Amino acid sequence: MNMSVQDFLTRLFLFACGGFAAVVFACLVTGYIRSFLERRRKVQCRICGYRFYATPDNSHAECPHCGAANRR
Ligand SMILES: [Zn+2]
Repeated sequence: MNMSVQDFLTRLFLFACGGFAAVVFACLVTGYIRSFLERRRKVQCRICGYRFYATPDNSHAECPHCGAANRR
């Protein structure tokens, strides 16, 4: 009886650790994908260095700060 309880607790601990690791891993992957997508959409102005988001289909993003057209 004592052994089975210890075995159960060990399995529960391993299961909790595995679940926690899976959640952390999922968060890291989601954050990496999100940062990758944001970096792809993010444009830095060549004139003033202002960082802004541009639509993916817009090849000439206009800077909202100085109005210069930025080729990507
Ligand atoms: Zn600018």
